[in-house]
Amino acid sequence: MKKIEHIGIAVKNLEAANATYKALLGRAAYKTETVESEGVSTSFFKIGESKIELLAATNSESPIAKFLEKRGEGIHHIAFAVEDIEAEISRLKSEGFELINKNPKPGADNKLVAFLHPKSSNGVLVELCQEK
Ligand code: ZN
Repeated sequence: MKKIEHIGIAVKNLEAANATYKALLGRAAYKTETVESEGVSTSFFKIGESKIELLAATNSESPIAKFLEKRGEGIHHIAFAVEDIEAEISRLKSEGFELINKNPKPGADNKLVAFLHPKSSNGVLVELCQEK
């Protein structure tokens, strides 16, 4: 693991949250992107080496819609940058972590991503991401 790449925050309304985080961080989102296959709209803010990713649902079946229903708005996941996602997946498997994605998949922000199940990391959804 190289560093915290970003922190993902689930929000109900992306436009409204973009305005809130622009006021909070003193800069606008540098990118907004919808990943239709995942049912999410995202926006990204840069803070030094790390980023904040805001995530809103694009439909009621979206994992973000389900998260909001269960837990409300708030921190959704922590993403770690990795050099070699395949190697990290096998390392974490051998350490006994449960993976949601056994193979990397395309994510937002030009990344290959894989998620660990929160029950194997103390209730925190962990995302691994590798620059494409
Ligand atoms: Zn993320």
